[in-house]
Amino acid sequence: MQEAQNKCPHCGAEVAQVAIICEDCKFPIAGTEKEKAIFIGRQTLNISKVASAEEVVSRTQIILYIVAGFKVLSAFLVYTNFRSTSDTIFYLVIALILGVFGYLLPKKPIVFILASLAVILGYYLLLYLVNPILVFSGITWKFITVGLLLYALYTVMESNKLKKKYNL
Ligand SMILES: [Zn+2]
Repeated sequence: MQEAQNKCPHCGAEVAQVAIICEDCKFPIAGTEKEKAIFIGRQTLNISKVASAEEVVSRTQIILYIVAGFKVLSAFLVYTNFRSTSDTIFYLVIALILGVFGYLLPKKPIVFILASLAVILGYYLLLYLVNPILVFSGITWKFITVGLLLYALYTVMESNKLKKKYNL
């Protein structure tokens, strides 16, 4: 015998007639009008959080392009001032990696934010090993870059949690 089915009034998914809550979107089917209104309000907020996480991802992409651009500039300066081919190549490789990570960012935001953080922090560590003073030049920008990447990581993780929980 088939179970009696109803449709969720919020997302339209098939739900059991006795369902108290929709499995798909967590709508309180058997709840009071007030509970339903609260759910709709919260859901609207969740959708806007997911949308703003997408904006954060596109902003992070621009940040990575800017950082990559500065590395290209460093490569250029190192080459014109010191004619150091190895340093020039080093900066160009970092620029290329960050550019590619930025390009791929929207496809897998968490993976490429983490990968970019690893490259940038690895680069700072290398600077520190070469000469600790180098790390302190432009330290504000270094903190801002790392801070923005961490913020993006947090925002995307929160948004993924909401997407999964409410099937957004
Ligand atoms: Zn539903």
